Order: sequence, then C-alpha cells, then structure tokens
Amino acid sequence: MYFISTRSGECVTGAEAIVKGLASDGGLFVPEKFPEITRDELNKMAEMNYPERAAFVLNKYLDDLGEDFLKEACEKAYSTFEGDDPAPLVRVNEGLYILELYHGPTCAFKDMALTVLPYLLKRSLEVTGSKDDVLILAATSGDTGKAALEGFKNVKGTKVAVFFPDEGVAKMQRLQMCTQSGNNVYVAAVKGNFDDCQRAVKNLFADEAFNAGLKEKGVCLSSANSINFGRLAPQIAYYFSAYIDLVTSEQIEVGDEIDFAVPTGNFGDILAGWYAKQMGLPVRRLICASNRNRVLADFFTTGSYNVKRNFFRTMSPSMDILISSNLERLLFEMSGRKADVIKTRMENLAKNGEYSITQTELQKIKQDFYGGYATEDDTVEAMYDIFEEYGYAMDTHTGVAVAVSNVYKEKEVDEKDDTPLIVLSTANPYKFPQDVLYALSGNDVKDSFKGVKRLNLLTAMKPPKALTELRYKPLRFKTTLPNDLKKMSASVLDFVDGNIVPEPASEK
Ligand SMILES: *Cc1c(COP(=O)(O)O)cnc(C)c1O
Repeated sequence: MYFISTRSGECVTGAEAIVKGLASDGGLFVPEKFPEITRDELNKMAEMNYPERAAFVLNKYLDDLGEDFLKEACEKAYSTFEGDDPAPLVRVNEGLYILELYHGPTCAFKDMALTVLPYLLKRSLEVTGSKDDVLILAATSGDTGKAALEGFKNVKGTKVAVFFPDEGVAKMQRLQMCTQSGNNVYVAAVKGNFDDCQRAVKNLFADEAFNAGLKEKGVCLSSANSINFGRLAPQIAYYFSAYIDLVTSEQIEVGDEIDFAVPTGNFGDILAGWYAKQMGLPVRRLICASNRNRVLADFFTTGSYNVKRNFFRTMSPSMDILISSNLERLLFEMSGRKADVIKTRMENLAKNGEYSITQTELQKIKQDFYGGYATEDDTVEAMYDIFEEYGYAMDTHTGVAVAVSNVYKEKEVDEKDDTPLIVLSTANPYKFPQDVLYALSGNDVKDSFKGVKRLNLLTAMKPPKALTELRYKPLRFKTTLPNDLKKMSASVLDFVDGNIVPEPASEK
C-alpha cells in the first residue's frame, strides 16, 4: 500500500511514511485507498487474541513490513500491558460499554500505539535502507510524551526528545516525564500552552538549519505524534476488537451498527474510528467529545474552524487543544481528496486562525460524526452519576465523553433506539487523582498522592505501581525553555551531541 500527502501529489511507501512522519510539503500521509475488512474476516478475527487482531489490521496498511514481523511486534508490545487483555470492554449497563485503553505502561491510551511504534520504526528503517540514527521529537499535552519516552527508552539507534507545555500538564504527567529513565531521552518544559508547544515543534520539523545540523550528525527526524501514520494505524485495531467483543459476548450480531464516543484533542483517536468505518466496520456515529476548548464542537455545528478564542485549562488537560492536527486527514477525504483545497485551508489556519468548509462537506461529516462539548460541571456530574449508580470510576477525559454522549442520546436518537454505545476510556483515573476524587466524592485534597490514597479507599480500585512509585523517583529533567525556535533547536542539538547529562535515574 502507498501513502499520499494531504497537501500535494507526494507519494511514499508505508515504511517511508513512518520514517518521515510528516510529508515534505507539511501535509499528513494518508493511505492511497481504504483496505476492506469483510464480514468473513470479522468472524475470523473473533478467534484471535488482541495482538493477533492488531497485527491483522496493521497488515492491511503496512504490508511492506511483513505479516510475521507485525505479529511478533504486536505480541511483544502488548505483553507490557497489565492483565491478559490489553483493551478490555466493560459493560456498564444495557447498551453502555466502556473500552478501557489505559492498561499499558504509562496508564493512558497512547500506549496502545506507542508501544508498537518503536518496532514499526526500526523495521521501516531496515526496509528503506536508512543507516541514520533517528531522533523522535514530540510535543505533548501530557500523555504522548511519557508513552513515547517509555516506548523508545534504550532502543538502539534512536533518541527521544519531548517538549511539554509548562502551563499545561497535570502533576502526575509532569512527574512521569521528568523522572524518565533511559540513556537516550531528553525532556524539557516550554513556556506557554500546548498549541504554542505543538507549533514550535512543527516549526522545528520544518527548520532547515535544524535539519541540516542533524543531518551532519547522521541523524534523521521522525515524529511520535499522531500525525505519524504509524501512531494512527494501531489505534484502528481496537475499534474492530471492541466490536468483535460485543459479537462474541452475544450483545450484537455481525453487521449490527454501534456508536462510539471518543474524548478528543488532536483528533487522532476518533479519526482511527472513522478509518475503521471506511474499512467496513458497522459504525453508525462517532461522537466527538470536547471539553471547554470546544473548537471541534463549534466546527461540527457551523463548518467554520476558528481558533481565535480563549484557551482554557481544564481537568482534562490532554484535550486542552485548539488546533486538532488530524482533522486535516478527514477534511482531505470529505473534500474529495483535493490536496490544493486542503493546502489553502491549512495556510489560512496558520495565517488567519480560521477556515471554512462547504455545506456539502459539512453535511457529509454530520452523517458520520456528532460533535459536542462538556463543561467542567457536566463532566463532574457524568462521572458522579455513573459511579453512584454502577460503582464504575472513570477518569476526567472519559467523563467528558460520557457527558457528551448523554446529550447525544437525548437530542439525536429515539428513546426506543437500542444501538449499543462504546465510550473509549483514555486514561487511568489515578493519573488525575485529585480531580477524579473531587468528581466522585466532592472531596478536595491538596496533594496528588493523598488523592491516590483517598481514591483507593473510595473505589477499592488498585492504583498502578507506575504512578505510586513516582513519589520516590528523583527528578532527572528540570529545564524550562522559552518558546523560541533557536533555543529549542540548540537544546535538541546539544542533547544529540551528548552534551546534556541529566540527573541519574533511580535504580528501581
Ligand atoms: C491524547 C489524549 C486524548 C485525546 O486523543 P486525541 O487522539 O489527541 O484526540 C484524550 N484523553 C487522553 C487521556 C489523552 O491522553
């Protein structure tokens, strides 16, 4: 399968798309066409375990990497997860299911892809014959950074540099990143919010002096953000897997339609669901849930994408984003694959902070998507209600999706409609212990680890060791950089040269 850029005729293999991350013209790589998964294949997938299902889906796109390789990679990647199912589907009540995607090493759904990506990248380098070392550069709203660091730490031939917004991440997320072990990792905070941070990193990708500096050192640049197709592809798999789990537990029959609700930031997770639908998965609607930073919800209503607005910090920080990069891939499809139209719109967004799509495109999008947003109060109420009635504790991001789904059910579907709804749960509640404790009990505590303790008393849910041990780990990275291309570029080049020596990691 070949991949094409959303902004020009650039065309590459799967391996090249993964190594490059972003197209030379600044566009994103999308598959030349959507491969199909037939009803027969769906039935066949019922016999497979999760890693086999994931490899089966990956092989539809990345056939140049080899099926046996993909199987082995998924096997190894998902063996790092807690429990025997990396993506368990929990039944909350008649018609409502939660797909828990947070059982990986860093307790957020980013692990579903970032445990696999290092294997995909190494293999892609072999296939393309590249001899360079790879520098993974990532901007993070909190969870991607940690998952990328953990996925790539000590992987030969790679280095990972992560920038996170100084003002943007939760305490646990910051601790997770700044205590990261490994001999090939670098972490720094950058002044400003996530959009500033993401923009700065995108500028680094495009900066000629920076790229030339790396090239001199025999290093090529790649991305662990969801702009990389290698990040997106493993996310398609869990939509199939969840559907098949509903079939095998006899909740639905193959061919029945279902809805998915997705807490959305950069639009990567939900886009993977739309790709699954294009491949033949019987999905009725994808519910795109935003928090108070409701650019997407407004876009789905008006067809105008406008980032000229206030940026809010919320208790779902991984969704505090105004510029959702992966929307570009959807718009490319909805425009009838007109790269010139997409290029113009993205230029408008960069220059004027907005663009609009046509009414025809908007109507098409509305057939597949429902966009809504939840306030902080809505989110707290949704989390509380489910905990009170069913004893199920969820994190704040998942809470946003449940709150928006409630409105969707009220407004868009008939009372008698019994189409099952799967809500994607993107983080372990213990990653945001103070906010979750507050939502479930009204209790405010000042300290995250005290929050963990109280939450444990309240829910009897086991806190993950990966989070509780953070309390005792030394901080290795303490730098905050200004949002300045030259300074960020210099710090990364310094790191590549081995001139930045972080504090030692703890032995544990
Ligand atoms: C990244 C993240 C999201 C948003 O996912 P996108 O793919 O960026 O839309 C939601 N919740 C959590 C916990 C996340 O880490």
